[in-house]
Amino acid sequence: MREGARLAQCFLEPVGVFLRRRSAGAGRFLAVGGRGKAARMIDLHTHSKVSDGQYSPAELVQMAKAQGLTAMALTDHDTTGGLAEAMEAARALDFELVTGVEMSAFVGEREIHLLGHFIDPGDTALLGFVRTLRERRIERVRRMIERLNAAGVALTFEEVAGFCEGDSIGRTHLAQALWKRGHIQNFKEAFSRFIGKGRPGFVERTRVSSEEAIALIHGAGGTVTLAHGLAYGVTHEELAQLAAQGLDGLEVAHPDHDADMRRTIARWAEEFDLVPTAGSDFHGERVIPERRLCECGMARAELEALRRRRSGAR
Ligand code: AMP
Ligand code: MN
Ligand code: MN
Ligand code: MN
Repeated sequence: MREGARLAQCFLEPVGVFLRRRSAGAGRFLAVGGRGKAARMIDLHTHSKVSDGQYSPAELVQMAKAQGLTAMALTDHDTTGGLAEAMEAARALDFELVTGVEMSAFVGEREIHLLGHFIDPGDTALLGFVRTLRERRIERVRRMIERLNAAGVALTFEEVAGFCEGDSIGRTHLAQALWKRGHIQNFKEAFSRFIGKGRPGFVERTRVSSEEAIALIHGAGGTVTLAHGLAYGVTHEELAQLAAQGLDGLEVAHPDHDADMRRTIARWAEEFDLVPTAGSDFHGERVIPERRLCECGMARAELEALRRRRSGAR
């Protein structure tokens, strides 16, 4: 069995447990039963307050260490600004920090999120790109506020900026400001009424193509993994395009992927020879209450398989 296929099976364990309860014919899933949760203590998808998370990069690393994780990637949206602090905290605790970023991009008309792992945080092309995106995000939030104001929703840029301590101002900060003003009862309502796609306050971010994002991450020495692909509606055809563009990995286990989705996407990882990965997409309880650090964890073998896909190793 190819490495990709073998690794993909690890992520089917939750499905296996589910199927075993319902049917005696799920024997093939028993093969992975020996991999307990304890072995999957690596989380490759987290956010700090340098983008839209609750905790500082150092706090996240400390939490990861205290909770028994064996490695963690910091993958803030469109910024590498938290990596120096996270690396410093990791050095002090003798913890393995994987440098990362989560870039928003488009494949055709589909918005996707790409995780870059093992990137060089000092890469000048990546830094320049991130700086431009940060400025464009500020302009976008100003335009969203204008639209909300025009729709009769009172809100100022300063109120929104008050929730953003980092580089990557966006809709989660808008949601918090809308909530503080009493316009909404919870974050979901912010998106369904005001700032989700098609709602009165929505403005699209600057479009970055998947080719551009993949080239930047590869240029910075990193690997590219499609984050929560099925939760964003990515089709088999779109995945084929991404694979042809040089995609390295596929996030199989994510809180927004149910058992059926994990099964489908694990099969796709095998078909396109992509490394299956897992991540919690943890933002902190205040930002996304139901998510926990490492609730979707991966094993050392998967991390090493991804590392082997780095530029140069390819
Ligand atoms: P932005 O990058 O500014 O467009 O913000 C996107 C972020 O908003 C995502 O990364 C999620 O953290 C959050 N988000 C998007 N849709 C929803 C939703 N329906 N409910 C809660 N949070 C959401
Ligand atoms: Mn986010
Ligand atoms: Mn995402
Ligand atoms: Mn994320």
